[in-house]
Amino acid sequence: MADTKKDNKQKRSDVPVRVVFLGGLGEIGRNCAAIEVGDEIMLIDCGLMFPDDDMAGVDLVLPDFTYLRENKERVIGVVATHGHEDHIGALSFLLEEMPLQIVGSPLTLGLARNRIEEKGLLGQAKFIEVSDNDRIQVGNFDMEFFPVTHSVPHGFATAFHTPQGVILHSGDFKLDMTPVDGRLTDLAGIGHLAKDDGVRLFLCDSTNAIEEGFSASETSIGQSIHDLFKAKEGHRIVVACFASHIHRVQQIADAAIDNGRTVATLGRSMNKNVHLARQMGLLTIPDTHLRNIENVDDIPDEELCIISTGSQGEPMSALARMATGDNKWLKIQEGDVIILSSHPIPGNESSVTRVIDGLLRRGAEVIDSKTHDVHATGHAKSEELKVLHSIVQPEWFVPVHGEYRHMTEHARIATRMGTAADHITVCQDGESVVLDANGLRRGGDVPAEYIYVDGKLGDLDESVLGERRTLGTDGFVSVVVPLAIEGPNAELLRLPEIISRGWVHGEEGDQLRKDAAHEVRDGIEAALSDGKRTRQELERVARRILGRFVNNRTRLRPMIVPVVLGAHEGADEA
Ligand SMILES: [Zn+2]
Ligand SMILES: [Zn+2]
Repeated sequence: MADTKKDNKQKRSDVPVRVVFLGGLGEIGRNCAAIEVGDEIMLIDCGLMFPDDDMAGVDLVLPDFTYLRENKERVIGVVATHGHEDHIGALSFLLEEMPLQIVGSPLTLGLARNRIEEKGLLGQAKFIEVSDNDRIQVGNFDMEFFPVTHSVPHGFATAFHTPQGVILHSGDFKLDMTPVDGRLTDLAGIGHLAKDDGVRLFLCDSTNAIEEGFSASETSIGQSIHDLFKAKEGHRIVVACFASHIHRVQQIADAAIDNGRTVATLGRSMNKNVHLARQMGLLTIPDTHLRNIENVDDIPDEELCIISTGSQGEPMSALARMATGDNKWLKIQEGDVIILSSHPIPGNESSVTRVIDGLLRRGAEVIDSKTHDVHATGHAKSEELKVLHSIVQPEWFVPVHGEYRHMTEHARIATRMGTAADHITVCQDGESVVLDANGLRRGGDVPAEYIYVDGKLGDLDESVLGERRTLGTDGFVSVVVPLAIEGPNAELLRLPEIISRGWVHGEEGDQLRKDAAHEVRDGIEAALSDGKRTRQELERVARRILGRFVNNRTRLRPMIVPVVLGAHEGADEA
């Protein structure tokens, strides 16, 4: 074996291979990396991120596509490792700019296809289906796909057989020894790869690196859901989970049917995914026991189980609407049992709490993963990572898919498992590594800003977000300064008018606005007698005076908006 490894090493060409990290290294979400062999670029995933609470009005966050845009003609495709939004959700945005070959399992492609179709971009995409352990060539890329277990079926770890040896990307994975579909993480296959070819560079999921032990098996969750159904006999049951978590849906449906219930799905993505998975034979629910929520009138409450979207508290989701009493199909009533078969993604905690409060207020009992085993993570914990590292034994290692603290812990685990510390590189979004005959080194950086998408407006600037944050915390104060300027003569026509929102109110506010108007008047009159005539100059004066006044008197920093009317246009601010 050692000889084979050596032979392969000797065969290594002079062509370096570069990996550019565009997203997912420093946050959970918007996973995207570019791997470059020769003059071609293949992406590994192209996902989105859901915004934090402080990203006012932002619906989605995308990877920065600047680098891909600049190298458009070199980008040949994407390997979609699995069907989660943080891996495929940005595909439809990239397809607006360039055509792509999209490589993935049939389910992954099915899930990706939905969104691409909604945007009318199917013509831009060529789908290449691969099955477990397939090895295919697309352009310069010789790729092999190993099954991994995760919280959506049919995920892959991908081996790129490159001129610089094997680059193995774990995909999102856990080591579930008893997965619902029996499809195990292919440790034997990965072991063969590691022994025969050797893994030169390993890129591995870091999400749960700081969690000790092993993750629970998905089938153990099925048992506790089953027990809950038994215990809650006589009550209507609603279970919320990720719509892509087909195995969870299967276990919920099994528990329901075993306990004499009929299943109804609720929420657009749940309906769609259940339909897709049944069509593909990945989900078994007999017709006799599956209804759409529109047709459940004849089923008594205690014989019904509703499987719903909204486990992350998404404001427009089916569950959030139940919590506010706005769900068209389902009104929560005293005695209903709601099971949140999920764990909030960082950033979603407060939305989830809000939904739980709403449901409780309506008299429902809410059961979640804090008190019951109704959820298992889809990501390997530290012991599982150790198992994989012990098998892969990479020459070089870069942790991916995690916040910085997850990746640094993963680096520590890799050292413990025998990878030399100077062969481990913790990278962040926008950084790159180059693999050549001498080993792995840092490459140049590329832009990797958060690209904010507001569903109504499209791309948002960081400055717009900053303004929204200011408006949200301190409001705004505007002053309108009406001038008449005729040759050398300039005069203020009236007392400036102060308009504010979200700043101060009541009598105190009236007095402050009056005082502010007088201060601005004095300042503007002084500026006019100094010979200042242009709108830009005078707005600067008004902004300075008003800003200082507001800060001195209220200790707040609202947005200051000066509007000077009737002045000359000057040169724009330097
Ligand atoms: Zn992920
Ligand atoms: Zn995932």
